[in-house]
Amino acid sequence: MNRRHTSTDTESPVRSQPLPWELPGAHWMGEEELALVEKVVRARSPFRYYGLDLQHMADRLEKKFAQRHGRKYALGVNSGTAGLHIALAALGVGPGDEVLLPGYLWVSCISAIVRLGAIPRLVDIDDTFCMSPEDLSRKIGPHSKVVMLIHMSGAPGRVQEIVRLCRQHKLALLEDCAQANGASFRGRPVGTFGDIAVFSFQLNKNMSSGEGGMIICDREDLYKRCFAIHDLGYARNEAGRLDFRNERYQMWGVGSRMSELTAAMALAQLNKRDRIVRAMRSAKWAIRRQLEKIPQLGFRTILDPEGDSGPFLITIYPDRATCQAFTDALRAEGIRGPEGSYACLTMEEWGLHWYFNNLSLVNRRGFTPNGWPWTDPANAFAQSYTYGRGTLPTCDDLASRSALLTIASCLTRQDIRDIVTAFRKVADRIWGR
Ligand SMILES: *Cc1c(COP(=O)(O)O)cnc(C)c1O
Repeated sequence: MNRRHTSTDTESPVRSQPLPWELPGAHWMGEEELALVEKVVRARSPFRYYGLDLQHMADRLEKKFAQRHGRKYALGVNSGTAGLHIALAALGVGPGDEVLLPGYLWVSCISAIVRLGAIPRLVDIDDTFCMSPEDLSRKIGPHSKVVMLIHMSGAPGRVQEIVRLCRQHKLALLEDCAQANGASFRGRPVGTFGDIAVFSFQLNKNMSSGEGGMIICDREDLYKRCFAIHDLGYARNEAGRLDFRNERYQMWGVGSRMSELTAAMALAQLNKRDRIVRAMRSAKWAIRRQLEKIPQLGFRTILDPEGDSGPFLITIYPDRATCQAFTDALRAEGIRGPEGSYACLTMEEWGLHWYFNNLSLVNRRGFTPNGWPWTDPANAFAQSYTYGRGTLPTCDDLASRSALLTIASCLTRQDIRDIVTAFRKVADRIWGR
């Protein structure tokens, strides 16, 4: 063991400077983003469908995004949250349907379901921190319509088993790739396993334009439904004008178009995405390989480390008290981010990522004043469903005794050394040598 890393001097913390912010794309923003945004501004054409001198940034972004994923269609939207709503609406989700989703999630995944009048059906996770295929097969029922597979914290879980179950039960599969843009599973990019997939370009995601998102799919009809819904409820013609005549696409729109400014930034970031992801992945696995030598420390199961996009390292402890003490001690050693950031935290502190912290779900708040969709007669089947802590045992267990370290996309070798040193120092103190 390297003595230098196991100093007995507990008075001086391993580092005094905060670790960098966890915002992956932000650290890589620069001239390329500026140049493309400037083009849009100079052309005075920030709207994507027509303008004084249209630069076609959104078109270019969609084309490239679809190509990168080997998908026929891509549609830029103004957020991942909107993308989930649009994708579910395009799949025809409504009252009388349930959408199955894992209990480690983001609030947007639930709200998209509820706003459409459908019922969220919680599925437990497994050691991958993603949906458990076993629990999924237990939960599938006569009202199940869509499986929302969320690739949480940078990496997918047991994708192939989930795909198989969806085929077997004729369920649509929606992939939420918001936290795993650029990740893959055994060589195949996330977003290509199901019927439709949604990405987010919000500031915390692997590439970012501040806000924004993308929907990808292969089926023309699904794409055209998404298109109408994301806009004003109708198709558009070549000139970018609404086309009301096509009866298949007389729908209702949610006003979630992508602006040319957003698209310009996202286009510059897409060109850097794989480099950003490589930087996080290599830093994360350099750290993890060292920490795996600490016998008492557990880790999230990552089935394909090559496909991990790397923004988070999840560690698992024997119990809640040790998890909290370890995390507190790491922070005291300087393993923390700047004020207001989340660099090193217990999963208990991870807010709306856990189903039981979503109080609007736990308390079945309605989207309308009359309590809809919970009060819709078509949803009577869901009366016995519960949403409070205790509903999903593995989620509850892992939430109580695991911790999360964000891996910035600009970590230096020294940062990586400090993180490993601090973990070793704390482990020695808590577990002895
Ligand atoms: C961020 C996120 C979203 C929502 O994306 P926004 O662009 O912030 O609306 C959806 N799902 C997951 C899993 C996310 O992490």
